[in-house]
Amino acid sequence: MKKYLIACLIAALTTSVAVADVTEADIAGDAASTGDVLTNGMGRHLQRYSPLDKINKENAHKIVPVWAFSLGGEKQRGQETQPLIHDGIMYITGSYSRLYAIDAKNGNEIWQYDARLPEGILPCCDVVNRGAAIYGNKIYFGTLDARIVALDLKTGDVVWRKKIGDYKAGYSLTAAPIIVNGLVITGNSGGEFGIVGEVQARNAESGELVWTRPVIEGHVGTLNGKDSTMTGTLNATWPGDLWKTGGGATWLGGSYDIDTDTIVFGAGNPAPWNSWLRSAGKPKANEGDNLYAASRIGMNPANGEIKWHFQTTPREGWDYDGVNEMVAYTDRSGAKRWATADRNGFFYVLNREDGKFVSAIPFVSKISWASGIDDNGRPIYNEDNRPGDPSEAADGKKGKTIFAVPSFLGGKNWMPMSHSPKTGLFYVPSNEWGMDIWNEPVSYKKGAAYLGSGFTIKPLFKDHIGSLKAIDPDTGKIKWEVKNNAPLWAGVMTTAGGLVFTGTPEGHFKAFDDETGKQLWSFQTGSGIVGQPVTWEMDGEQYIAVSSGWGGAVPLWGGEVAKKVSYLNQGGSIWVFKLSN
Ligand code: CA
Ligand code: CA
Repeated sequence: MKKYLIACLIAALTTSVAVADVTEADIAGDAASTGDVLTNGMGRHLQRYSPLDKINKENAHKIVPVWAFSLGGEKQRGQETQPLIHDGIMYITGSYSRLYAIDAKNGNEIWQYDARLPEGILPCCDVVNRGAAIYGNKIYFGTLDARIVALDLKTGDVVWRKKIGDYKAGYSLTAAPIIVNGLVITGNSGGEFGIVGEVQARNAESGELVWTRPVIEGHVGTLNGKDSTMTGTLNATWPGDLWKTGGGATWLGGSYDIDTDTIVFGAGNPAPWNSWLRSAGKPKANEGDNLYAASRIGMNPANGEIKWHFQTTPREGWDYDGVNEMVAYTDRSGAKRWATADRNGFFYVLNREDGKFVSAIPFVSKISWASGIDDNGRPIYNEDNRPGDPSEAADGKKGKTIFAVPSFLGGKNWMPMSHSPKTGLFYVPSNEWGMDIWNEPVSYKKGAAYLGSGFTIKPLFKDHIGSLKAIDPDTGKIKWEVKNNAPLWAGVMTTAGGLVFTGTPEGHFKAFDDETGKQLWSFQTGSGIVGQPVTWEMDGEQYIAVSSGWGGAVPLWGGEVAKKVSYLNQGGSIWVFKLSN
């Protein structure tokens, strides 16, 4: 009886202090700590690798579902979230800017928050959200009306709510924030509306703005409420006033490297898409690069000053956003590197200290717009594969149409790759597709699409678009490839158990052998998977979770590909798995 009472007392105490504050040290140690998942990317290096090996190549066939949780109602659409796990509670974001706290043991809802979006929001590419961030006693996430919201971890009550941009001008926010030294740091979305890409850092406790860093040259940043420094040099690589609506949306969030104390955000396409408009008034041999659009930008997290940049696609003209995640890793010789698989079809390795170019390889086939990357990391353009200048057309309305590979949805889009330090390989969810693209005249109008281009995406092969590739960053070799009929749109995770997890639009959540690509396990989740898997340990067992819920940019923008996948059913749910007993 006494023992029972003590057990009850302990249980009561545990319940009352169940949700502990998350510290900077907890976040810094997230990649190594197996009992929680506190950050987007399973660690701020974004490797999405777990040291857990209880589920492994030998027993993966015994993985079974434990519970599922519906995101239902009428609010379906794409579910691109990465779950967070803290103190036995799972936190997930859902379509239409919703956030749920769920008991990780049984799938029971603890609380939910619905941002109640205003009329007139302008999400370009589905009403998705890619995840939240936890720090202290709060959880943070971005909403489609371009706000960042801080909620009480225990109750889901709003603690503060701040505007990051004007949703009527096309600003929104879908990426998970990143937390560094007590600052909650966010980018913005809206590159198809001529917004200006920016990174903002706020005091996580109060929500007060600490610094801003616009990523298009000519704009001026702020620090503690005052102007800080100009980004780049006014009109150095942009003609006239176009920089004022120059795009470069920082829509996929950032990574943080504690070794060099650097945050890295990517910037999307320069606006408008029609690249000839951005070189007006310049001799064609000396066109502007349109910095820092289509670039990765290394910044000081304390003040937002730019340390270095690497532009993947200068004077970009195919919507090859430069936002894809930068993964920090150490190569086999011990050198500290960044790696990124760009929309433009090339996989880059950069030096972690200064962002300098190390190497690049094509990771999709038939790339048409460039024949390669030179020793400085600059593309070697195939000039005849640039969509034509409409001002040279007879009617001045439609430039020459070209067929470009990759399509604007990219050799790889937002869906994050994984790095396994165990194999040294990167596992890249890629797509093999091209597009007809042409340019048209356009002028900026607030809240209207600002493209100056038309396009139709087309598959390249009859049997597949998706291709999960294992890439060796040291040799540039593709070690194995697994093809998929529909385009891949889900994140990838690797584990010390030698497994690679990802999902398909056809609904299958799969585990592959990290050395060979052999499929070891598959489970049909009922709708397409465009989410990001995670794994953690609870009560001595290894658990795995992924969201299911078809949507995202492909059905909205995919042209002939969208027709090909129009049979896929919507639905929103979280699935949790472990080994059968
Ligand atoms: Ca962890
Ligand atoms: Ca874009």
